Amino acid sequence: MVTDEEIASAAEVIRRGGLVAFPTETVYGLGANALDADAVAQIFELKGRPRFDPLIVHITRAEDLESLVEDVPAAARKLVAKFWPGPLSVVLPKRECVPDIVTAGLANVAVRCPAHPIARRLIELAGVPIAAPSANVFCAVSPTTAQHVRDQFAERLTHILDGGPCQVGVESTVVSFVDDVPTLLRPGGVTAEEIEQVIGTLRISEGDASQPASPGQLPKHYAPTTPLELSTDAPRPGLRVGLMTLGKPESVEGFAVIEVLSQRGSLREAAANLFAAMRRLDAMGLDYIVARPVPEEGLGHAIMDRLSRAAAK
Ligand code: AMP
Ligand code: MG
Repeated sequence: MVTDEEIASAAEVIRRGGLVAFPTETVYGLGANALDADAVAQIFELKGRPRFDPLIVHITRAEDLESLVEDVPAAARKLVAKFWPGPLSVVLPKRECVPDIVTAGLANVAVRCPAHPIARRLIELAGVPIAAPSANVFCAVSPTTAQHVRDQFAERLTHILDGGPCQVGVESTVVSFVDDVPTLLRPGGVTAEEIEQVIGTLRISEGDASQPASPGQLPKHYAPTTPLELSTDAPRPGLRVGLMTLGKPESVEGFAVIEVLSQRGSLREAAANLFAAMRRLDAMGLDYIVARPVPEEGLGHAIMDRLSRAAAK
């Protein structure tokens, strides 16, 4: 799909301070040289992302974490040893070299080591850590294919590496080690249960957007333009309503269109299909979308987090 030459020329774009959209196992990222504040500023401009929403810095080797953060506590060390490369980001006190714009002025930086071979090769060839949020306009549905990225930015973004659909489909799990107790800031591709098996009980952040210690946990996010309701209600008569469910729905009466996220009811498969399904429904000119709640276990936490933010007023 993507040749090594294409990745090499994308890496050159990064080194020169430009932007590249690239696949990761979670969602497509919009990347820039994390150590170049001007390059990173372009990410915020292109996305229309507020400057108080910090980015995740992507590296290829766990050792590189040391060059970005002051100190790695034992619990963080254990966690990255277990889940890197993979959909886990750790938040730790940043070093000087990380520009303030990356962390939205916070003293802490989020770092992740992606598993996707194209992401890894891009970072390796660029020779610098890559700061990247999801490659979508601020608050919109995250992209899980290169076409989603093209649809968002059209000619405003020329460098897009097409690695096919993302395998995980929801963003990384973000765990902060800034306080004494490891804290879950965002549920994601690695489940809280999996993390707790390695480091014990996690504190679950309240996700208060007005609390400056954890920006990015905005109440409205991941949202289609069509109104979305998270409910078990029947569709209101006289309206064109879409239905999104985990498995086969009990009743489809009155719905104009149905998206089943996983025929066999797998939360993992549902996570991988979530954002693409949201986009398909969004493209149908519906009056509104009803998303059915999914069980809050495993990847269900991440799915429910995205759905409740998509549904937020
Ligand atoms: P995105 O890449 O669009 O999924 O956004 C990255 C998200 O990671 C942010 O919106 C935050 O939720 C989280 N994050 C990144 N850096 C930090 C940080 N320094 N402190 C707390 N959360 C962070
Ligand atoms: Mg995002």
